[in-house]
Amino acid sequence: MISHQDACALIETPAGALGDLLARAGELRDRGRGRTVTFSAKVFVPLTTLCRDYCGYCTFRRDPGEPGAHTMTPEEVVALAQAGGRLGAKEALFSLGDKPEALFPTHREFLRRHGHRTTLAYLRAVCETVLKESPLLPHANPGVMAERDLAALREVNVSMGLMLETLSERLLERGMAHDRAPDKVPARRIRTIALAGKLGIPFTTGLLIGIGETARERVDALVAIRDLHERYGHIQEVIVQNFRAKPRIPMRDAPEPSLDDLLRTLAVARLVLGPDMNIQAPPNLSPRAYPRLLAAGLNDWGGVSPLTPDHINPEKPWPLIPELRRATESQGFVLRERLAIYPEFAARPEFLDERLRARVGTLLDERGLVKDSYEHWRRW
Ligand code: SF4
Repeated sequence: MISHQDACALIETPAGALGDLLARAGELRDRGRGRTVTFSAKVFVPLTTLCRDYCGYCTFRRDPGEPGAHTMTPEEVVALAQAGGRLGAKEALFSLGDKPEALFPTHREFLRRHGHRTTLAYLRAVCETVLKESPLLPHANPGVMAERDLAALREVNVSMGLMLETLSERLLERGMAHDRAPDKVPARRIRTIALAGKLGIPFTTGLLIGIGETARERVDALVAIRDLHERYGHIQEVIVQNFRAKPRIPMRDAPEPSLDDLLRTLAVARLVLGPDMNIQAPPNLSPRAYPRLLAAGLNDWGGVSPLTPDHINPEKPWPLIPELRRATESQGFVLRERLAIYPEFAARPEFLDERLRARVGTLLDERGLVKDSYEHWRRW
């Protein structure tokens, strides 16, 4: 693994030397992860689009009353999870805004009607219902959490996540991406990730690039993630996500990171985090670039949904999976389905609540990957 100083130099690699950097990262990936690339068949569950933060790049959040503002009922979540289960999905990825009850009385009232005071308590109850009433395994990304929240959610999640995004406090300043986003204070996010480590929760984190950070600040964030993993051993995957501009966001005119910039960051992430880390880039954010992303050292495509994004036509296949398979195999890799908990964590009882172990175990082959899935998703 490379030093902070070396990483700072490599992340500025000029275009002419990019091929060498990618080759080095690709070799390191092959040494640790081999030539298997994974994905998780998931259903995206937007539990609530309300959020107390106002990140400049966010397309997800809404205030009450805005079109798209919605908190799902348990019945809606179960229907979605069951529909996903019928199509072979294994993961219920819960995405939601951070602490909307702190700002919105209508949301507090929604929670009260369902018997809860906090969104995180409601989330826990809904995860439990999904486990009971569908074949899916929850993986929640609910934002900054205290230790008691993490401990409660651990009982009903096979893994959890919180993007570190950045370590830059500058981005909290007026007019920057995290102005008006109290949950994006880097120290608060580091603390949540550390607490998850203390509790033995397999954890997903990562960087969001192109939101105003410098190249050096990207390295700072990667090294911080490495330090957390060296201390607790719980980081199961690191995502390098690139900012994409959208019409309705405050940062709609901000420049997007180039593909070379993403590739450089992915490669440096591999070199900083080492041969064994699972490194992911979301394929839908870089269409037509799959071979280059593979060359940069990733070994996971993340969650891929068999459902269409609008949940109206759940029988309609998501076209990405055959495309991903072709792109992955054409570069000499094997594509395999994994669960929301990676093989190296599923095999260790200290990383999974005992009530979830048997259920996870029945889905896995001897390598810890999903057994018998190949024929199933080949049809998607
Ligand atoms: S915390 Fe930021 S990125 Fe997350 S939902 Fe809220 S506004 Fe969006």
